[in-house]
Amino acid sequence: MKTKRWTVDVHDKLSTKDPQIAQAADLLRQNEVVAFPTETVYGLGANAESTEAVMKIYEAKGRPSDNPLIVHIADISQLDRIAGPASEKAKKLMKQFWPGALTLVLPCKPGVLSPRVTAGLETVAVRMPDHPLALALIRSSGLPIAAPSANLSGKPSPTRAEHVEHDLNGRIAGIIDGGATGLGVESTVISCSEDMPVLLRPGGITKEQIEEEIGEVLVDKGLTEKNETPISPGMKYTHYAPSAPLAVTEGSAERIQALVREYQQSGKRVGVLTTEERADIYEADFVKSCGRRDQLETVAASLYDALRSFDEVKVDFIIAEAFPNTGVGHAIMNRLMKAAGGKVIH
Ligand code: AMP
Ligand code: MG
Repeated sequence: MKTKRWTVDVHDKLSTKDPQIAQAADLLRQNEVVAFPTETVYGLGANAESTEAVMKIYEAKGRPSDNPLIVHIADISQLDRIAGPASEKAKKLMKQFWPGALTLVLPCKPGVLSPRVTAGLETVAVRMPDHPLALALIRSSGLPIAAPSANLSGKPSPTRAEHVEHDLNGRIAGIIDGGATGLGVESTVISCSEDMPVLLRPGGITKEQIEEEIGEVLVDKGLTEKNETPISPGMKYTHYAPSAPLAVTEGSAERIQALVREYQQSGKRVGVLTTEERADIYEADFVKSCGRRDQLETVAASLYDALRSFDEVKVDFIIAEAFPNTGVGHAIMNRLMKAAGGKVIH
């Protein structure tokens, strides 16, 4: 399949009539899949009401079929058709954080969405993205759009159109290049289908921000305890991983440098994932800095690009510095631990 590519200059007044957006929306209405930027990462969109369309997402990504998709809407008026009733807390969260990096798991209305979107669950995950291009595209299609991250399953999520091209060129109908995404990590997923909201995946909107709005939320045990199965089916899979094995370490720079030497002495080429503050300290085969530790948003924004860069150089092992587990650091650590398959060096 030849993958169409459009480049769109993103600005607040993007219209549904923009010819490139209209063409991409046409493809969505023909049940084809199209990658587009959101404020979190690039999404791979398809008509959420069509099983034919949704199957193409799973095929293109190689995504396990029991991992449900997030449905993206552009207007609150789209919500009623697919999900509800929403609890008072869910409504508060929508009012405060939509459009934005928060996905709400709500009761699913039967008979509208393809059952492949929800992987057979009675709930559906819904988000309204805060990105002018994503909103114009969804509006122009007139459809609810199922969209996971636009990467091959298991790989780091794409934060630039080049990442999408690298993984999916020839496998999807189109890619809209709208430049680099802003936040760089996926949305926060919170279940609002029961009385007490449960955080299923940390992301762009922090637990602290959510609790300020609706009071205490529970955290899925699958996120914090090794032997618990996560509620969110996708959270049990290894994700975001570069080709070489990766381990996270909370050690000092001296400890990390000693580890690098140890691995090198056993004949391995070693990479280190660090931040600007320490990038000049390490002597390793490849040192990659992602953002500044004292501004964790900059780490979130460049984390996936940094993880992908290890595939461009030949290293046998990657040591990643740990980050504080609060605010957006919660999402960063969650992604790093998944990339590491849980491997921590103390
Ligand atoms: P992705 O589309 O790759 O960003 O991942 C979407 C995340 O939302 C995965 O972790 C899914 O398991 C999760 N998710 C989607 N729908 C549901 C649902 N109905 N209940 C719980 N988790 C969900
Ligand atoms: Mg993903």
